Amino acid sequence: MAGWLGALSKTRSIIKQAFSPSATEAGELNVEELEEILLRSDVSARLVMDIVDELESAPRKASRKELLRGMLLDALGEGPEFAWPTGQNAYVLMLLGVNGSGKTTTAAKLAKKAKGQGLKPMLCGSDTFRAAGSSQLKLWSEKVGCDFVGGEMGSDAAGVAFNAVEAALAKDCDVVLVDTAGRMHTKTPLMDELPKMCRAMNKRLEGAPHDVWMVLDASLGQNAIIQAKQFNEVVPLTGIVVTKLDGSSKAGFLFSVRSELNVPILFTGLGEGEDDLVPFSREEFVDALFG
Ligand code: GDP
Repeated sequence: MAGWLGALSKTRSIIKQAFSPSATEAGELNVEELEEILLRSDVSARLVMDIVDELESAPRKASRKELLRGMLLDALGEGPEFAWPTGQNAYVLMLLGVNGSGKTTTAAKLAKKAKGQGLKPMLCGSDTFRAAGSSQLKLWSEKVGCDFVGGEMGSDAAGVAFNAVEAALAKDCDVVLVDTAGRMHTKTPLMDELPKMCRAMNKRLEGAPHDVWMVLDASLGQNAIIQAKQFNEVVPLTGIVVTKLDGSSKAGFLFSVRSELNVPILFTGLGEGEDDLVPFSREEFVDALFG
């Protein structure tokens, strides 16, 4: 399984320059150089400005590196740590995101995690828009060894989601992971379809979906935030999963997720393997970037 250090090597190699001997004066950070480096790794201009102001006005004796670390941890915000809710009929978690962001893979990785904790998960493939929309997820369900409900291409996604919740209740599943269609947000039908799916699931099980997470591809950098804002207006998001942190040189955008969306980052994908989904830790993230 990929670790934080290896996964963040691209952003890390940019940021590490800020701490190289040529960039430091007597062991201290060169703020101008740091500013440029943070912007290059897609930290938002606003946060970079705040960091620069704070570092420049800090007393000379203060460790700029420690100040910077504190500011970045604050920007990421604290917790919460995710735990599978138990003691309810079925916990329904819906995953949103554009095609290719890693939704299907994330749903499978989450199902595996749930199963590993002794729960009975179900995968629901409600992407009835793409020809192979739910077949990939079906394959994953066989690999993970869990129940699956999917829909034929062109069928009603809300109906598929309703059926999945119904089947999950009948089979005593603890967790339903609903993978959704991800054609681009500019196509309005998808944005109509998502609330309709929520209404359908809620009709069968009050409170469902209990959580709605957006899956964001880290290689999009700040553009991922724009996408999430658009989805958040249609269905309120309760969590973020950032995939493909391995290989991204733009991981700096994670620092603006909390302030821009007010939604916590809960998991991060650090590779394509089924175990490469790890709970987000702000300390590990910051220390992997700067350590
Ligand atoms: P979807 O269209 O949103 O359902 O995306 P998929 O789950 O099919 O993923 C698209 C591609 O991204 C696949 O090739 C996945 O293996 C890959 N992928 C998903 N998550 C990660 C990750 O965390 N790291 C890497 N490197 N690849 C990932």
